[in-house]
This record gives sequence, C-alpha cells and structure tokens, in this order.
Amino acid sequence: MSSQRKLFVTTALPYANGKFHIGHIMEYIQADIWVRHQRMQGHMVHFVGADDAHGAPIMIAAENAGVSPQEFVGAIAAGRKQYLDGFHIQFDNWHSTDSAENTELAQGIYQQLKTNGLIATRTIEQFYDPVKGMFLPDRYIKGECPTCHAKDQYGDACEVCSSVYSPTQLINPYSALTGATPELRSSDHFFFKLSDPQVVEFLKTWTQDKNADGTGLPRLQPEMAKKASEWFEAGMADWDISRDAPYFGIEIPDAPGKYFYVWLDAPIGYLASLKNHFDKGQAREHWHAPSRTSASFDDFLADPGVEQVHFIGKDIVYFHTLFWPAMLKFSGRKTPSQVNVHGFITVSGEKMSKSRGTGIDPLKYLSLGMNPEWLRYYIAAKLNGKVEDVDFNPDDFVARVNADLIGKYVNIASRAVKFVPGGKLVAGEFAQLKPVQLVESIKHLLETREYGKALREIMAFADEVNLRFDSAAPWKLAKEGKGAQAAQVCSECLEMFKVLTACLKPVLPELAKQAEAFLQCAPLDWSNAALPLGEGHQVGDYKHLMQRVDVKQIDALFELPPEAAPAKQVPGGEELAPTISIDDFAKIDLRIARIVNCESVEGSTKLLRLTLDVGEGQTRNVFSGIASAYKPEDLVGKLTVMVANLAPRKMKFGISEGMVLAAGHADEKAQPGIYILNPWPGAQPGMRVR
Ligand SMILES: [Zn+2]
Repeated sequence: MSSQRKLFVTTALPYANGKFHIGHIMEYIQADIWVRHQRMQGHMVHFVGADDAHGAPIMIAAENAGVSPQEFVGAIAAGRKQYLDGFHIQFDNWHSTDSAENTELAQGIYQQLKTNGLIATRTIEQFYDPVKGMFLPDRYIKGECPTCHAKDQYGDACEVCSSVYSPTQLINPYSALTGATPELRSSDHFFFKLSDPQVVEFLKTWTQDKNADGTGLPRLQPEMAKKASEWFEAGMADWDISRDAPYFGIEIPDAPGKYFYVWLDAPIGYLASLKNHFDKGQAREHWHAPSRTSASFDDFLADPGVEQVHFIGKDIVYFHTLFWPAMLKFSGRKTPSQVNVHGFITVSGEKMSKSRGTGIDPLKYLSLGMNPEWLRYYIAAKLNGKVEDVDFNPDDFVARVNADLIGKYVNIASRAVKFVPGGKLVAGEFAQLKPVQLVESIKHLLETREYGKALREIMAFADEVNLRFDSAAPWKLAKEGKGAQAAQVCSECLEMFKVLTACLKPVLPELAKQAEAFLQCAPLDWSNAALPLGEGHQVGDYKHLMQRVDVKQIDALFELPPEAAPAKQVPGGEELAPTISIDDFAKIDLRIARIVNCESVEGSTKLLRLTLDVGEGQTRNVFSGIASAYKPEDLVGKLTVMVANLAPRKMKFGISEGMVLAAGHADEKAQPGIYILNPWPGAQPGMRVR
C-alpha cells in the first residue's frame, strides 16, 4: 500500500421528506471526525452526501403540499446547509438522487446488470387503487389483521400482534390514500437476481472478508458479518427493483411507464454526488487534496487504490451489505472497502419521541447558543466501533463538557501561560509524559472509530499534565523567586496542551483553530502533533477558549413548547391540555349532525367533504381529514357530533363551516387510526351536546 490513501467517504443519504434529526447529526459527526483524522494524516479524501429524493412517500407528500416533487425536495435541500455548517460537518459536496448524474449512473448500472443476465422479468399481482389510479405500496394499504383481527393495520405487518403478512392477506383491505377497495392487478416487474449462484458466492466472500483491500481491516464489523451469514442461511430472494407509474423516480430504459424502486437509485446517489463533485472541478482544487490530480470521476473510481467507505445506521444494513455491493460488482464497478455501521441515539435511555419532549432538535440546540463542539465532543465520547446505541444523558453531557473538556483540557492553557514570561517557551522535559505514544495510540483509536476510548486516553493524559502543574505549584515558585523553574514547568504544560489540541482536532476543529492561534503554531496534523514547539517559541495572548455549559441551556433544550405544558402522562400517551373552566367549555357549541352526503375530494388524499344537517333548515359543508379511515358511502346517513360555532375556514378546496369530532393519537403516523364520534340512538340533528 502506498503511504497516501485515496478515500471516498459517504454517510447514508437522508430521505428528503423531513428535516435532519439528531440521529442524522450523530452519523455526520462520526464520519466527519474520521475524515478529519484521515486528512490530518495527509490522505486524500472526498467526503460527499446527497438527498435521497425519490419514491412514493415523497410523491404523495408533495401532492398533499400542493407542489411538484422537485419543488418539495428542493425546499428540503435548501434547509440542509444550516445544520451542516452549524455542526462543522465538512462535506466536500452535497447533491441529490434526483439529478442528471444519478439518472445516467442508475440506468448504466441497470444496463450492465441486464447484459450480465442478472435482470429477470416477472408478472406479479399487486393491489391497485382504482380511484387514485396507481399501484399501492404495502404501507398505503390498510385493513383488518388476518391474525388478531385488529382494524386499520398496514399492509405488511400488524402493529398490534406483530404478525407479518402480505397485503393480499388483509381482511377488507382499503387504500389509505382514497379509502377505495383496492383491486388485484397484474404488472410486469423487473428483478435483480440476488439468488443467482455467482451473486451469492460473491457476497459470501465479500461480507466475510477479514482483510478488505489489503488494509488489514475487516470490511464489516464482526456482528454485521455474522448477521450476513444468517441471511445467507435463510436464503437469498431476488429483489424487485421496478415500480409502475405514477412514481417519482428514474425511468427504466426501454420500459415505458416503469421506474426504478427508490432503493435501487438511492445508494447510486453516492456515486452521483462524487461525480458532481469531480465535474464541478472542486475535487481537483480542494485544499486538502495534497497531490493535485487531473483524474476524472471515472479514472478515480477505476483506481484500484481508491477505498470506498460508507457510514450507515443499523436499520439499512441489508441494502448496503447485499444489494449495493452486488449491484456494483456485477456492473463492473468498485465495491465498498468498509461499511461502518452505528446504532441509534436514545435520550436518557429512551427512544426519542417528540410528543414526550425527549427529542433533541439540532436547530434548537444551535439557536440556544449552545456550542456545536460540546455536542461533537459528547457524541464522540459515547461512540465506539461497535453497532451499539448511543445515549444522550443531559447530566452526563454537562459533566463531560464542563469537568473534562473545559476543566481538564482548556484550563491547562489558561493556568500555564501566566507563568511563562512574555509567552516565550523555555526548554523543558518534553518527552517525559510520552506525547509520541499518546499520538500513536489516538491515531489508531480514531482509525478504528473507538472515539470514546480515544477521548478517555486524552483526558487521562490531561490529568497527568494537571497533576504535574499542581504538584510543581508554579504560583508558589513564582512567589519564592523561582520564576525560572515555574516557567519551565509551565512551558512543558503548554507543549502538552499543544499535543492534546492536535489529538482533539478531528473532534473539535474550531476549538483547535483558536488554540493554534493562541499557540502561534502551524496548523496541527499528525506529522507535527508530537513535535515540540521548542525553546524560544512565542505563544500569543490567551483568550478564553470555551464557555461552560449552563444548565439553564439544557433545561431550555428539553423544554416543551408552552402549549404542551403542564406535562402530565395519561393513558394513551398524549399529555392533557391545560385546565379550562366550565365557561371556557360553554363557548364551544357542539351539536348532533346528520351526514346527509359524503364524498371524496379530488386532489386530496386526506379529506372527505361532508354535507351536514344540524337542524338549521339548510346544510353545512365541512371538510374532515378522515379519508384514511372511512369510505364516503359508509358515512352517509350516520349521526355524528360537530363543532357548530367554529369560524368558517377557507381551505384549498372550499369553505369549511365547522368541524366533526373524531378520536385518534397525536402522532397519527406512528399510531394510525381515526374514529369518528357516533351518538346513541335517539339523538336528533341540532341537539346540543353539553
Ligand atoms: Zn394482528
């Protein structure tokens, strides 16, 4: 292996239907630290990301928002930069799977797989929504669970009894988009022949490779390699890679009306972003590419020395360790050198939940003026090379930042510089604390993503430096007229501060920059990390390097929005609204209403249009977001309860003159089901509910 590595590094592509959450930020921090470590080594790195823009959920979300899918993902993409810049995540390029590069690459890879005989065509039967005019993904079909008979279960699995089935097994299936009864229709689909013996043989070797590309490192973590062999034992099934129009995606060549399934073109987005990066010329001009090359995207990937490294979460391992390497291999491309899998992030031991107020909103974190490097430090302190979940514990966060990072590391500089006259370092016992060994150990730990261990070693070293300072008591020496001795000890401490700064630099790039300015040294990297600044080196004036975490900031970070207070858990998981008086309640005029007509709303998958008789001698028009739960014809003639004195509201589809009452969970996605109220027999339209 040549001494300079050439690395192509990616993080998983976020689905472009929502903002970044703390889990994304954790992954980017993990990868960014690794990349910065490689660059400090002098290696060439191209670190790219992109939005995963295709698929039915985005197509439907865009439709509901009344915009084109391109506009929808464009708006999401425009929000990405503030997070990445905010947390010092230094991608070289950010692109989209909805791009010319990705179309060209995906179609090319498909053609090569086809030429190699690995694409099969099969006719499959699938549910079709006759109202919407589209085949329904499993998640958009609901019905009664065939096992436990729970109502309103998704087409792939029951959330009540956890049984797994196919949508055709549902009892009384209906489309979650329109409420229509789906019809079974047949369609030709394309399959990637993952069960082909040559593919299986390749994957068996590839996933178990203990010395990938001669790096001496396994391609997959041991627990992931084990997982892969379990999958092989269970047997490989061919992979359905096509979807029928209407679909937001990339068209399949020579197959009108057929699109690639989003998971086919999503990982190809890694290559598309890299290509876009090369084509922009940045890859050649970038400051951290030490040897400028005139290589093109194709040359770069054809170079056998180039290592392709992916950082992903444990939920998408199947795609990245089976589908993706097989697609690359059998289309004649480079396969990944490492797939580094991490766990999820929990908060105080619980899975994040917005309704319970335990989530951490990354933008809120920044807007509270919290230092992004606190979070980088804390997340790094919790990460290791295994597939383990990371827990954010607020008390632990405060302790680690204030006691370790600031108490142990930052304070060395402020304490020591006072006793070095004029900031001019004097000769000392530089090697006594073994900085060379520290640097070598930290390099190894960062390389293997053992960040937590690395930070523990760094802090143990800082403890030794502080101990040296305290036992020498330079403040006493200075008073006793032994200023030269004080200067010597403190010069050593500043030298060690410099070594520590280099070791922390991949985790804390901005703090390191400020420390370098104070030390008046060249930018620190692994080649100069353990070298002394030397006798006579002049350091600058000390300026405060980092604030402590204020506990009030943590409280504010976890504070619920005011309307959700007081936080009180009730059965059903949703907090009670604040207390109101009987007079407040009396302001709401609830009436029995007869649904005289009900119809679906063209252009909306959520709403039904209700015509209500409230005993006024004329009917009212009310829109209600219950289309996922009821078919229009099932509601006609039924009684329900409405808010009769709600101010009329102008909506996209007309004016809504009231609201019908229905029960449901706050997070309808996580816990689906809407239940309209229905009075006991005898109630008459117009009666007041009190
Ligand atoms: Zn069930």
